[in-house]
Amino acid sequence: MKEYVAGVDIGNATTETALGELLDGKLLRCVSGIADTTGIKGTRDNIQGIIRSLKNASEKMNIDPEQIHLIRINEATPVIGDFAMETITETIITESTLIGHNPDTPGGIGIGIGRTIAFQDLLEAEEGQKVIVVVPDTVDFEMAARGINEAVQSGILVEGAILKNDDGVLVNNRLEKKIPILDEVEMIGKVPIGMECAVEVASPGGCIDLLSNPYGIATVFGLSPAETKQIVHIAKALIGNRSAVVIKTPAGEVKERKIPAGEILIQGKNRLYKAAVDRGAQEIMTIVSRVDEIQDVTGTKGTNVGGMLEKVRMEMANLTEQDYKTVFIKDIMAVDTIVPREVLGNLAREITMEKAVGIAAMVKTHKLHMKRLAEQLAEILHTRIEIGGVEGSMAVMGALTTPGTEKPLLVLDIGAGSTDACLMDEKGKTKPIHLAGAGNMVTMLISAELGLEDFKLAEDIKKYPLAKVESLYHIRYEDGSVEFFNEPLDSKLFARNIIVKPEGWKPVNSRKSMEKIRQVRKEAKEKVLIQNILRALRKVSLTGNINEFEHVVLVGGSSLDFELGNMVTDALSHYGIVSGKANVRSTEGPRNAVATGLLFAYLEERKHG
Ligand code: ADP
Ligand code: MG
Repeated sequence: MKEYVAGVDIGNATTETALGELLDGKLLRCVSGIADTTGIKGTRDNIQGIIRSLKNASEKMNIDPEQIHLIRINEATPVIGDFAMETITETIITESTLIGHNPDTPGGIGIGIGRTIAFQDLLEAEEGQKVIVVVPDTVDFEMAARGINEAVQSGILVEGAILKNDDGVLVNNRLEKKIPILDEVEMIGKVPIGMECAVEVASPGGCIDLLSNPYGIATVFGLSPAETKQIVHIAKALIGNRSAVVIKTPAGEVKERKIPAGEILIQGKNRLYKAAVDRGAQEIMTIVSRVDEIQDVTGTKGTNVGGMLEKVRMEMANLTEQDYKTVFIKDIMAVDTIVPREVLGNLAREITMEKAVGIAAMVKTHKLHMKRLAEQLAEILHTRIEIGGVEGSMAVMGALTTPGTEKPLLVLDIGAGSTDACLMDEKGKTKPIHLAGAGNMVTMLISAELGLEDFKLAEDIKKYPLAKVESLYHIRYEDGSVEFFNEPLDSKLFARNIIVKPEGWKPVNSRKSMEKIRQVRKEAKEKVLIQNILRALRKVSLTGNINEFEHVVLVGGSSLDFELGNMVTDALSHYGIVSGKANVRSTEGPRNAVATGLLFAYLEERKHG
């Protein structure tokens, strides 16, 4: 008689099913099912998602879910990850300095360097003097253009202009000699007069080049190496801008202040470790790596980190109906990041990139809850439910169905909330570990660094390549290749960056250039995924030496990433490791590993009685 058995993997993001048709204990065929996880992994809210996933698979097998004889779910200890951002620097302008202004429609093009001069004093400048004229809103565009033309005729070298009104293009159209013009500077009265100033406007669609380079700024103002170091964050903030102004005012007017951000307290087996958040992610992670078994993590009360860690704890306690005092944080991951913030004391709502630390935390609770979930599920489906095997070993079992793999094998399961690693030796013995930080953290970094307030958009930026609609008949992909079209494209997309999704294009509502978005995307993956892969390898290894692994197989949703494969190969080939995405059951790619493992482990057990 035919039997139907399903392995179901409840993840943070996805609930996956491997459904097998068996005859006398032998597998005839196998199909996959997938659905979004409902609720937090390991809680009764999951049932809806489980049923959807089972239905999805059953349809492919042409059976009813009720015909399934046995369902094996993973012994998933609930894991939740959360993410907090702690800004640790604050840029203050103590004296009027305009930096990095990026209006929509600057005028002119090129670079202008000179001393700032008020419009009403323009004609009093000396012949041959290089000036940048500052125009208040009491002067309209015709007067401004006339004034500048007159000054140029009398030999004054007007190299650029800063306007209060949004008139950059109008003024520029009336000039005999074209100059770069920055407009929409709200607090024009605060622009310091008589100071050295550089204005840069890129061609439409281009990015500035000189002022986004620290050495460029150093060249313009003749800065010393020490001064150049101070302006690095200004240059960084200007990358990808269409236009910018930098004004040099006497001695250190742009200051970077550190905000006290509290401490992270990590309880090890024998002692307490402390990490100051404002020392940055690297130091936090060095301390985390020293703790051999994290018992719990807390943060200074009243800080973002402290609040976030308690929020994770409370949420987990509520969901699993436990006392929050018995919920422990078992791992954290910190990454350095930069986030856009308005400069204090700004003149035109300038934004600078402040340093911040992003932290992901992970909580594990008891298996007890899976049992409860299994009981409830059995009642609803009238089917036998078993909790089968630890997630890590199941992932290895599933990954081993990839052609060309063999034991010993290290499997990395990169999901939404956590990165799980499991090593299986020749004899089949396994060693699983769980680390905080995976796909969700990458998305949140992208969202924060680009200043998006839209998780879905950030998720799409993470998953798909970019392109720019350069004309109504062609687009340029981020790799430089061009595609032409016979029919005109939607004019709303003209000059926009788009995400190339398989189901269609999606415009990116951000003023950032394609290059900038791409850079942020890649760096986020590097900072979270690659770092966590290396961390997992170090943790699983017996010798602490990454070189001991030969084969590393990637599974989980984040392994689907279109550029991660190459990044991993790059990072691991240094250590002589062969790595790549799994191809579960030769058909599923890196998906369905744990679910397949659950089913195959059952088949093995049947075989051996
Ligand atoms: P879990 O096991 O925690 O449920 P999954 O294995 O389903 O997680 O992985 C979910 C993660 O994979 C999410 O962070 C999602 O953004 C990411 N992901 C899914 N598809 C892709 C893709 N094509 N490229 C990059 N990341 C992806
Ligand atoms: Mg998973």
